[in-house]
Amino acid sequence: MIISPGSTIGVLGSGQLGRMFAIAAHQLGYRVHVYSPDALTPAGQAADLEITASYSDEDALRAFARHVDVVTIEFENIPLRAVEVIEECVPVRPGRTVLASAQNRITEKTMLRNAGLPVPEFATVGGQSDIAEFIQLGAGSRKVVLKSTEAGYDGKGQTIVNGLVDAAAGWARIGHGSAIVEDLVDFEFELSVVGARSVTGEFECFGPILNYHRDHILDVSIAPADCVPSKIRAEAIQMTRTILESLNVIGVLCVEFFYTKDGRLLINEIAPRPHNSGHLSIEAAETSQFEQQVRAVCGLPLGSMRQYAPAAMANLLGEHFGDVEPDWLALLEWPTVKLHLYGKNALRRERKMGHLTAVAASAAIAESHVRSARLVMALGSDLDSHVENTLHMEHDACSCEENGNVN
Ligand code: AMP
Repeated sequence: MIISPGSTIGVLGSGQLGRMFAIAAHQLGYRVHVYSPDALTPAGQAADLEITASYSDEDALRAFARHVDVVTIEFENIPLRAVEVIEECVPVRPGRTVLASAQNRITEKTMLRNAGLPVPEFATVGGQSDIAEFIQLGAGSRKVVLKSTEAGYDGKGQTIVNGLVDAAAGWARIGHGSAIVEDLVDFEFELSVVGARSVTGEFECFGPILNYHRDHILDVSIAPADCVPSKIRAEAIQMTRTILESLNVIGVLCVEFFYTKDGRLLINEIAPRPHNSGHLSIEAAETSQFEQQVRAVCGLPLGSMRQYAPAAMANLLGEHFGDVEPDWLALLEWPTVKLHLYGKNALRRERKMGHLTAVAASAAIAESHVRSARLVMALGSDLDSHVENTLHMEHDACSCEENGNVN
């Protein structure tokens, strides 16, 4: 059944992904109700109605569900019981199967491995002796990553354990109940693919996107990922499709990959929603990841996600804002750069406040533009001192493209 424009879409969660979803939904003529425990949120500011209530308040969940035609999610850690309550009234897309997989790192990796997909070697651990055992399966110096099983994102709840000698300290840094330990992957690049699947099983995708992280948080994304062989790019897309189909996802789902130094793809994790790395699809694709989510959850045909032009995205975190008001005018002078701000008032280190996207003749040039624009924004209009820096970056980026394009 098609949920036509003019209907109301409910969103569970109220961050920037919900905000950009609401903007795309409004463009197609939908109304949007946002539900989360917070008030005056990024998504709430862009919605027709913001409901502030707990995910455990079943009366409030039912009241929310009665006034919408379909519900989607904007972050995966929504309690499954809340989804179950809403499903009694209206469809929730994507549904509980994929949410359950994505909420628990062990369930997620086990599901992927059972589907025949490659993941880093991993084990469930309940204490330092389990970590030590896993490390000893390799050489005792094996470096591993210890991650809490649930509610981890952007590197929160994870720590690197430097061989056997660090096992006890590593568990102390993170240990509680159960955790997952996995090989520290020696990767060349991190990639992601944003896939979408419709009610009728149509599949579309954007990517692979090349991702650079800083302190485990996404910093810059670039597409197309020309540095990666086309065979690997095709494999990443096929794996994404396999995941959406095997979990019967209706909606958008992002798959994060490691491309290892010995030329293999390993899946890091899945996110059953639009993804930070896919933000550049707003400017660079025929259909953005947010419009695609609207189309998928409303039973509409999917749009093509073909990329118009090379693009790059740089996140704006709290620390990218100086002590004084950023120089918005200097930033907005860049003809290729688009500014997105999420309406968050309180600046905090590592908090995602917005992002910049540039579209240019090559991905390397787009990358140099977003990186330079971010510097200019933070450091004010004292451009002269940055010109040299910018030129170096453009040169480095271009030579990377020349040398790194292996296709
Ligand atoms: P996650 O929260 O699992 O997405 O991790 C955030 C970031 O930490 C990833 O994008 C990687 O940069 C890094 N990371 C996580 N797991 C591993 C791993 N097993 N090996 C190497 N780097 C990792």
